Amino acid sequence: MTHRKRLILLGAGNANLQILRRWCDSPIPRTDLTVLNDTAIVPYSGMLPGAIAGRYTSEDFQIDVAALCKKARATFVQARAEHMSHAAQSIETDAAHTLEYDLLSINVGSTTAAPPDAANDPRSISLKPLHMVEARMNALEQRARAHRGRFEIAVIGGGATAFEISLALAHRLQSLSHARVSLWTSGNAPLQNHSTRLSKICTRLLEKHGVQLYPRRRVSGMDEAGPTTDSGVTEPANAIIWATPAKPTPFSFCAGLAPDADSFIPVHDTLQTIASATVFASGDCATLTSHPNLPKAGVFSVRQGPVLWDNLHASLHNKPLRPYRPQPLYLFLLNTSHDSAVMQYGRLALEGRWAMRWKDAIDRRWMHGLRDVYLK
Ligand SMILES: Cc1cc2nc3c(=O)[nH]c(=O)nc-3n(C[C@H](O)[C@H](O)[C@H](O)COP(=O)(O)OP(=O)(O)OC[C@H]3O[C@@H](n4cnc5c(N)ncnc54)[C@H](O)[C@@H]3O)c2cc1C
Repeated sequence: MTHRKRLILLGAGNANLQILRRWCDSPIPRTDLTVLNDTAIVPYSGMLPGAIAGRYTSEDFQIDVAALCKKARATFVQARAEHMSHAAQSIETDAAHTLEYDLLSINVGSTTAAPPDAANDPRSISLKPLHMVEARMNALEQRARAHRGRFEIAVIGGGATAFEISLALAHRLQSLSHARVSLWTSGNAPLQNHSTRLSKICTRLLEKHGVQLYPRRRVSGMDEAGPTTDSGVTEPANAIIWATPAKPTPFSFCAGLAPDADSFIPVHDTLQTIASATVFASGDCATLTSHPNLPKAGVFSVRQGPVLWDNLHASLHNKPLRPYRPQPLYLFLLNTSHDSAVMQYGRLALEGRWAMRWKDAIDRRWMHGLRDVYLK
């Protein structure tokens, strides 16, 4: 008689959610599925800027992982993974569970880089974990409304998230004449790692919607006034939002899967970790050794889902695994929060209402694909 296998999905990221979704229709035979995530409800990050700007309600962008597990006849464990033993093939959680696996798929996302003095400063706001963002932005709005005198919000970062968040906040707080949003980037312009045309469009939009851009300001800390740069520049800020590059969560290092605390989990093209053939990792928490500079973005985690599904199957049945090949060109859509989006595909970059309709349709299709399963 063959024993049942135990598959654990650790982290309800975009790749693992696809495994859970597929499990509802076609579970892998003779396999028990467990999903371990620190929250039962997870937000879809692609719609978060729209939610901050007031375009979406919580129902639009939140996924009930516990309900999805129920549909899939999977066990849901709400807890934070803290350690794992490779020898015992087990994970320990902050709620004292010890969960044993035959196969493990890790998709725990990333955290945000911020200087050490940001951790305990009440003005400091992190965009991770994602499930806290909505509440943090509500609290920020309340503070801004109650404030007498100028209320300055400094968004730190030069990438897509910093751009989207600063415009979302500018839109949300537009009725408060004393509130002002600024964007601090170490580069010469926002989205500098993308095409010059995209960067120019984004610069124009920030100006048009009243976001003060501070280029060439590498923020390295904070003082009583506000953020401080390498060269000693500071400006007053009542709130400082860290939309800085992704950093690994402590779990991967504690789990013995990453070489040091600053590294993501190295994986082969099959998404198997270098450390163990029975442990897979995908999304932000993983780095493909063949493509170490692949951006940390939800779009890649989404694309890894189908390969992960095939390879978990293959692994459980001792079949050959297939490689994940990142697409050389991908569609990049940024919500401007002012009824339009910026689109980039290869060297083509354009802005318009049509692009927002396109983004909205893609995001809603993703959400329907997950939510309709447990809502119907
Ligand atoms: C405001 C904002 C907007 C963004 N917009 C976009 C966008 O439009 N397009 C895009 O491509 N990217 C976007 N990003 C980037 C995107 O959020 C990340 O790249 C993406 O979420 C990574 O997905 P993931 O599948 O790796 O994991 P995630 O979606 O981050 O999910 C990881 C899950 O694991 C859980 N978890 C973490 N640690 C543990 C643990 N130890 N134990 C148990 N559970 C754990 C987390 O709570 C979470 O539910 C945005 C980011 C932010 C902050």
